[in-house]
Amino acid sequence: MVKKYINKLKQKKTALERIDELFKKAKESFNKEPKLSNRHAQLARRIAMKYKVKIPAEFKRRICKNCHAYLVPGRNCRVRTRKGHMVYYCLSCKGFMRVGYKAKL
Ligand SMILES: [Zn+2]
Repeated sequence: MVKKYINKLKQKKTALERIDELFKKAKESFNKEPKLSNRHAQLARRIAMKYKVKIPAEFKRRICKNCHAYLVPGRNCRVRTRKGHMVYYCLSCKGFMRVGYKAKL
């Protein structure tokens, strides 16, 4: 049983590494092929779901919650702040998602 547990931990670690890699690729390919970076983002999301790992916070807001597109602020997404949370408007599906933030003291 312990071995199984260790295996799972290893799987999660490699899953996180893959997610990191996929987001790097998505960032690189966004200028040339936005569709390809969407695909990378979707794959990263799927891996996170399969291995039940959380997508790191800095990447999580890079995926549209509605259409799962890869978002780049200023290019295909608009970011506004509003009463304690940030609102991300996806320009391809016109959906928005809210991300809360805490004011830094
Ligand atoms: Zn969208």
